Amino acid sequence: MSDVHFERIALIGIGLIGSSIARDIKELSIANDVVVSTRSAETLKRAEELQLGTHYTISAAEAVKNADLVIVSVPVGASERVAIEIASHLKPGAIVTDVGSTKASVIAQMQPHMPQGVHFIPGHPLAGTEKSGPDAGFAGLFRSRWCIFTPLEGTDQQALEKLKTFWKTLGSMVDEMTPEHHDKVLAIVSHLPHIIAYNIVGTADDLETVTESEVIKYSASGFRDFTRLAASDPTMWRDICLHNKDAILEMLSRFSEDLAYLQRAIRWGEGDKLFELFTRTRAIRRSIVQAGQDVDTPDFGRHILDKK
Ligand code: NAP
Repeated sequence: MSDVHFERIALIGIGLIGSSIARDIKELSIANDVVVSTRSAETLKRAEELQLGTHYTISAAEAVKNADLVIVSVPVGASERVAIEIASHLKPGAIVTDVGSTKASVIAQMQPHMPQGVHFIPGHPLAGTEKSGPDAGFAGLFRSRWCIFTPLEGTDQQALEKLKTFWKTLGSMVDEMTPEHHDKVLAIVSHLPHIIAYNIVGTADDLETVTESEVIKYSASGFRDFTRLAASDPTMWRDICLHNKDAILEMLSRFSEDLAYLQRAIRWGEGDKLFELFTRTRAIRRSIVQAGQDVDTPDFGRHILDKK
């Protein structure tokens, strides 16, 4: 048996993240009962076909009854609706957590509805792919990846430790920070790169002098890696942009300033400035590989990481 065990876990949302958690729970025998809940009958049916849980229901309220751990894995903009639906059905002493990519907004949406005696501990596993839905998930997605918690003031330490042990059992490394700091860090390491990718791919799509077939044919030269990011779920990314607005706008304005510097260096033929920047950024890539967050293969290690 694993280091952590729950009688009953409720999974609200069973897409890429929820279904990956479900697969790990099953593989590692972390719970006796796993209640799966999602808003559409179609996704619920698919989750049942994939045998992701032991019980299935459309009703999130029904799902959380008697659950010791509730994991909400829905787009961040849907957090409040879910919180309202489950609030009065939560078991006293239950741990409620989420996996949302933004934290301050999720807390603002969920915390006011959480009843006394329930431990609400926001979290965010830094793991994923550009795919979505229950078929996209896989066991081991969280292995060697960070899971960040943004505990609220007065959080029960025992509940926090239990939740950390849960994620460590899934293979994650855990860390804590304030929601505001989380949102800033994620704005630079994840949100900005996705927005840049959406923008580049959108620009290429709008270009009239280069045909779509040429964009696809010659895409290996850099563009391809942006298309992977730009293929991410539109609902999820719309919600992230709307719910981490301030931090994203701050990073975008820094980015625009730096881009203007680069633009100027190119215009005036300032090769030294370009060389200095490109040398600095190359070292960052090396540090990421050394930290075990990617492998040094030409496909950015995606295939290898997927199979880990
Ligand atoms: P996903 O594969 O698209 O699955 C979304 C799940 O939420 C589905 O069960 C879907 O239900 C449900 N859902 C969608 N809209 C909803 C709404 N308005 N109200 C209630 N339920 C709704 O998404 P995901 O990639 O697992 O992402 C889930 C959460 O994890 C998001 O908050 C995201 O920010 C976070 N996250 C994602 C990644 C990533 O790389 N994908 C990484 C870390 C964290 P139906 O299918 O039944 O409609």
